[in-house]
Amino acid sequence: MTPGRFPPRVRIAPSPTGAPHVGTAYVALFNRTFAKKHGGQFILRIEDTDRTRSTRESEDAIYRALRWLGLDWDEGPDVGGPCAPYRQSERSAIYADHARMLLDNGTAYRCFCTAERLEELRAFQRAAKRPPGYDGLCRKIPKDESDRRATAAEPFVIRLRIPDDGATAFDDLLRGRIEIANKDVDDQVLMKSDGFPTYHLANVVDDKLMGITHVMRAEEWIPSTPKHLLLYRAFGWEPPVFCHLPLLRNQDKSKISKRKNPTSLEWYQEQGYLPAALLNFLALMGWTTNDNTEIFSVDRMLEEFAPETITTSSPVFDLTKLDWLNGEYIRALATDALTDKLIAFYAERGRTLDRALMLRIVPLVRERLKKLVEFDEMTQFFFTDAITIDLAEFDAAKKLTPDQRKQALTAALAVVRGTTPFTKDAMEAPMKAALESLGFKMGDFFMCLRIAITGKRATPPLLESMEVLGQDVCVRRIEAALRLLG
Ligand code: GLU
Repeated sequence: MTPGRFPPRVRIAPSPTGAPHVGTAYVALFNRTFAKKHGGQFILRIEDTDRTRSTRESEDAIYRALRWLGLDWDEGPDVGGPCAPYRQSERSAIYADHARMLLDNGTAYRCFCTAERLEELRAFQRAAKRPPGYDGLCRKIPKDESDRRATAAEPFVIRLRIPDDGATAFDDLLRGRIEIANKDVDDQVLMKSDGFPTYHLANVVDDKLMGITHVMRAEEWIPSTPKHLLLYRAFGWEPPVFCHLPLLRNQDKSKISKRKNPTSLEWYQEQGYLPAALLNFLALMGWTTNDNTEIFSVDRMLEEFAPETITTSSPVFDLTKLDWLNGEYIRALATDALTDKLIAFYAERGRTLDRALMLRIVPLVRERLKKLVEFDEMTQFFFTDAITIDLAEFDAAKKLTPDQRKQALTAALAVVRGTTPFTKDAMEAPMKAALESLGFKMGDFFMCLRIAITGKRATPPLLESMEVLGQDVCVRRIEAALRLLG
């Protein structure tokens, strides 16, 4: 049984800087699944305390991307809730009050050290090969002096007084006991000189005030957790349960990064990954079903999920695997469902596709489609009158001389003209007879025809495609190719 208070209240707390990150969706999926399973709430909090990097566009993009994936939330800046506001920039007074509480009970202190002094200190520590960190100079300032200097408008930050000795430990739900010696923890800045809180203060205060029971976040936050626990202690609060999820990693095991993998959720949407496939893929990064089925829905995950069953091994973010999964999801769709998805996908991109025609084309490409965006490239020749052919493409019919290529097309043209009804089944036997009578290899013969009809070497099944295009179009294209061949 998972420890902690139930029903759970969990959250994601993205910072709205830059494009919506795939890691946000990953953490959201696990948190949301846990909340739903136990009738709890999933909260979206916007951590925009970094005033220079946070933007409203980025915040809106997070909402759009998570909604696209179906990862909706019960409380958040845009939907409200009992703990509003859910945007940290609107909670400044709350953090100021809480920092004051810590000053008053002596667990935090004002630090008046100037930027120059801190820089000198760092330089000295570097030279002495000591770990960087604040040396605690301002800890010794008596309370009345500190108050006086603050009243006199001397700039200061507020730091947490970390004990010199001992260690801070917690039981991570997945990793067991984690202990960090207090001497390795810096006197963390809680309030900056501009009066804005740092991540640590705002995060802990909000988790407490929003009633968060379980903090499920990425592994990279483990080093911050002792500071958070010391903050809980300083306030006299009971901490939540901590569960640090495995980080998404590049092939070389480094933390997933833009340089090595697409990290923006917008990219995944643009490519035409299906939300269900992407969620399945993200789930697999840290979890699998009881019987190790690789393809499963969020509903199935909901049934079997428990936080303790998350793996801590470092999953590699492998796009080839995602492509495979997405292809599986695409093939699992019925033709009209896939057709509607494609029509909607392209409509969002300003292109209108004829449903009746689509219903004939979709069965021809569904087997090879890995992402919706590939449909365009695969099927252009259906949607245009004028295909362009590069003469050099015909070199793909390797064994045939230029003259023989013309013979192949001339024979194919006769079959096309003479076949009624104009169907794949009706064309098959006469095409075969034609190529046999010429003595050409099947591959070469059909390569010439494929290029004439589509302009490309690799396409959906050819005779089926010709049937969809119709007799007149095929006649015209073969004639044009013959003219091109001279
Ligand atoms: N604002 C942090 C982030 O951007 C939140 C980390 C946490 O969940 O505590 O990921």
